[in-house]
Amino acid sequence: MTPNVAFPSLTERQIETLSKYAKRRHFHHNDTLFQAGVSPATFFVVLSGAIEILDHSGDEPRTIVVHEPGEFTGDIDILTRRVTVVSAVARGETDVLEVAPADIRRLIAEDPGMGDVILQAFIARREQLLESGFEGVRVIGSRDSRDTYRIREFLSRNQVPMRWLDVDTDPGAAELLRHFGVDAEALPVVVCTGQPVLRNPSTRDLAQAVGLKRAIGTEVYDLVIVGAGPAGLAAAVYGSSEGLTTLLLDADSPGGQAGASNAIENYLGFPMGITGADLTRAATLQAQKFGARLSTPAPVTALEDEGSHLTVRMDDGETASARCVLIATGADYRKLDVPDRERFEGIGIYYVATKTELDACGGADVVIVGAGNSAGQAAVYLAQHTRKVTMLVRRDSMRQTMSSYLIDRIEAAPNIDVLYTTQVRELHGDTRLESVVVENTATGERRTIDTPAVFTLIGAIPRTDWLPAQIDTDPKGFVCTGRQLANTPGWTRKRQPFLLETSQAGVFAAGDVRLGSAKRVAAAVGEGSMAVKFVHEYLAELREDPQPELTTNVPVKGLAAL
Ligand SMILES: Cc1cc2nc3c(=O)[nH]c(=O)nc-3n(C[C@H](O)[C@H](O)[C@H](O)COP(=O)(O)OP(=O)(O)OC[C@H]3O[C@@H](n4cnc5c(N)ncnc54)[C@H](O)[C@@H]3O)c2cc1C
Repeated sequence: MTPNVAFPSLTERQIETLSKYAKRRHFHHNDTLFQAGVSPATFFVVLSGAIEILDHSGDEPRTIVVHEPGEFTGDIDILTRRVTVVSAVARGETDVLEVAPADIRRLIAEDPGMGDVILQAFIARREQLLESGFEGVRVIGSRDSRDTYRIREFLSRNQVPMRWLDVDTDPGAAELLRHFGVDAEALPVVVCTGQPVLRNPSTRDLAQAVGLKRAIGTEVYDLVIVGAGPAGLAAAVYGSSEGLTTLLLDADSPGGQAGASNAIENYLGFPMGITGADLTRAATLQAQKFGARLSTPAPVTALEDEGSHLTVRMDDGETASARCVLIATGADYRKLDVPDRERFEGIGIYYVATKTELDACGGADVVIVGAGNSAGQAAVYLAQHTRKVTMLVRRDSMRQTMSSYLIDRIEAAPNIDVLYTTQVRELHGDTRLESVVVENTATGERRTIDTPAVFTLIGAIPRTDWLPAQIDTDPKGFVCTGRQLANTPGWTRKRQPFLLETSQAGVFAAGDVRLGSAKRVAAAVGEGSMAVKFVHEYLAELREDPQPELTTNVPVKGLAAL
């Protein structure tokens, strides 16, 4: 018989191992052990009696499983520290072992045998739950609403199970609104199990409701990582697995630019390619498994040197203290320079091409602006799900800017049209984007294309406007590190800066934000991992000499000098 990976029965020996971390508790028949949307996810091992796990996200409660003696509760939310998405109720007089989430994380890290059994069960349970019709958070709103898009995008990028009910086409939406007594003016609304209905919530309130945003506390972290793209995630995995107290902050969601890719085909070890969402899901879980803390949304607005430590300040005034900081804020999408662009953002102008945007444009003809690899990937993906894709390319060729494998696929696709020397000039629409006027800059000819979606993939600029003046950047804003700091007046240590160290000792930079970086997932992951080695060296230095002698007279040796 094949072992049940999702719901294994623990051996007596495994229960004995767990009991070292556990306390014994007793529940009466019908007692609630934890409640969806309210309690943190909790790990109980059934010793006698039973625990029924219930899904309340649909219209009627539904039994997912009944845990018998030897089985345990919990899923990946124990690692992500979010509130639980299901409820647990005792069936009969029930004795359990309760293990605190922090101890489960410790056990998974310290005991690979037990860790595998528990982790595999957590992952398999979440997969089964999603496949079983679990609705999760329900979002009711119109496809023509920018706030509906904001909410759906935030939930989906943060991998919160969600169902969208389009108020214009889904008959169930009106029924639900009546059920909750919500007027159409309050749309979009969000329904989370066990909580009051949220009427057009701010992203922060939504994050709090689904357990993404948590208090950071006053401890001084060994490492605070700003930005949870591939570079930040890699640093979080290595930092936390090597015993550093690690906090990972992201303005929006983990994954960064890579998280928006539908097929990363050149990342080592994935011959069939991997989606950015899958890579992000696995990396986030891996970092949290080792104890890294993640908080979103947490847009960092300032970095301050307090002498004894560094302070990272967020837009709501919340702060995090750190011995070392890693700048991994990557790059932001370049925007179209065309009138009314802002008015149509989220309702026709998009910067990524994923299922969320596809749902919003309903399979109609779409336009892509750009000729880089991200534009090429988007064209190939969108061509599979829409009638027609029109690519607008500023130059007369894509050969200098796009990989040849993508050009070959675009040329082979019957429903992709490429218009060279063409730019967007006007955007039109009433409640959402309906058409664009484009101009052939070689001939001056203008034409109108009817479309509900323009995907703008025209490169990126570094996200460094939050950095203080003492962090050196090049004129474009990319952060200088290591030997790039030659002749900087900002460097004040007697030693030379480490390879990924910025002009402020103890502050490092990795990934796309760094001057001269390769702008690839693998390179960002490599730099994020490597930065942790320098964090260790810096912390060792700090332990030896908490107040190192400073000097302004030791110039950094540039490349030419070495
Ligand atoms: C659509 C697309 C497809 C791609 N496909 C490939 C591919 O197939 N192969 C490949 O090798 N590369 C690909 N790339 C490039 C690759 O994704 C990037 O090189 C990589 O993501 C860079 O990682 P990073 O961690 O340095 O930065 P990013 O991925 O840019 O991540 C930075 C993170 O920092 C956060 N952040 C920014 N500012 C702040 C702040 N002030 N406070 C808190 N958080 C902040 C952002 O929200 C973001 O999550 C693609 C890029 C795109 C856009």
